[in-house]
Amino acid sequence: MNHQTDTIAAIATPSGTGGIAVIRISGADAIIRAEQIFSPVRGKSPLHMDGYTCSYGYIRQDEEILDDCVLTVFRAPYSYTGEDVVEISCHGGRYLTQKILRTVLCRTVRLAEAGEFTKRAFLNGKLSLTQAEAVADLISASGENAVKCARTLRDGATFRKISEFSAKLLEILSSLAVWADYPDEDIPEVNAETLEQDLESLMFHMEHLLKSYDYGRILREGLHTVIIGKPNAGKSTLFNALAGCERSIVTEIAGTTRDVIEEQIRIGDVTLRLSDTAGVHKTSDRIEQIGVEKSLASIRQADLILAVFDQSTPFSPEDQTILEQLPIEKTILIGNKNDKAPCWKFLQVLPPNSADPAACISISARSGQFPELEQAVAAFASRKAVPAEDGMIANERQRDCLQLAVDAVHEALDALQMGMAYDAVTVSLDAASDALLQLTGERVTDKVVDTVFARFCVGK
Ligand code: GDP
Repeated sequence: MNHQTDTIAAIATPSGTGGIAVIRISGADAIIRAEQIFSPVRGKSPLHMDGYTCSYGYIRQDEEILDDCVLTVFRAPYSYTGEDVVEISCHGGRYLTQKILRTVLCRTVRLAEAGEFTKRAFLNGKLSLTQAEAVADLISASGENAVKCARTLRDGATFRKISEFSAKLLEILSSLAVWADYPDEDIPEVNAETLEQDLESLMFHMEHLLKSYDYGRILREGLHTVIIGKPNAGKSTLFNALAGCERSIVTEIAGTTRDVIEEQIRIGDVTLRLSDTAGVHKTSDRIEQIGVEKSLASIRQADLILAVFDQSTPFSPEDQTILEQLPIEKTILIGNKNDKAPCWKFLQVLPPNSADPAACISISARSGQFPELEQAVAAFASRKAVPAEDGMIANERQRDCLQLAVDAVHEALDALQMGMAYDAVTVSLDAASDALLQLTGERVTDKVVDTVFARFCVGK
């Protein structure tokens, strides 16, 4: 049997108990296998059913009735995989669904591998590789924005964008080829200036798309966030309140939060990967020194910094040092302990116009309620957002392919500017075109395809 054309089956719903479960069968033998194990009560038997219709009846194993179910038939090529597909909606519950699945499996129907249904959809031309990847993202998406984005990409936004780039490259490549191949014909010479402008414009748009990777990563992983501040500012109290558990040690003794602890939390519709770090301050304690170094490194790597200051005590030189070290464009300044009378305000200590007032908030970490923080985080996250309709680079594989294409167009431009022959330009543009075809999956190795689909769950 050919692995690629075997009929496959799997439980498409999560394992465990549920109202209903769906068993999916795909391939040339899907309908005949369904005919052998299903007796309709109302409606037609699978062999006589049209695509997109369903029938109510019993699943049988020999003479034993296993369950009553609704069976839906999709006929090739109008199905998710592009093959004949049967979906059995039966009663949920691990034991029953496993038993029905075992009944479906036989000499000509084998268990599907992880992502094999979607892989078939890709191999049968129903989806581009970027769309298939978006299906995986859709399954794992948490939050409204992540779902919206994955759905737009599933509908082909990235594929369309990359296809525009490919079409432009092809247009340039063919004008170069025609001119090189038929020198005797009366074909106008390719104008180097126009060519340079075209390539620069293409590169501008490709680099713009490349930048969307950052937002994709934030949607997938959350904003890498660190809480910093001098000892006793209330960092651990804030961390614990946000994380909803007593993970950090809260104490009156300065410098007790020694290492970096990480927690994934949601605030409004934004996911934060929250690190609680040792306070940024000079210390002679060796163990604590390690924590301080880690926290300085995490400031550099963070997407967002929550800088906590104790506003119930006077603004100190130490507060000033911390304030000066902060990359203000990615910082939310938090004045803590506002249940006590404030000794100072951010407006008094910041240079004029240096920070967005919306990013300076006042809270009581002890109270556990921070609507101002939620608003400030939402505003910060929305500044990072890119419209998914323009396409988005959703993972490292896509980013590496697009980066290769950008580098190749760069090389072509260099060759052009150095006055090299158009042959050299063509070689680089061919490489760019190839990288884009790899990105969409139009020219891709089996190994890459296998790696992409290995991320999926069985049944999808
Ligand atoms: P860290 O060293 O920055 O992690 O500070 P902690 O979270 O350990 O807090 C230091 C002290 O400040 C503790 O006694 C906390 O209970 C107290 N604290 C934290 N937040 C507040 C607050 O909003 N109001 C008041 N009054 N005390 C707070």
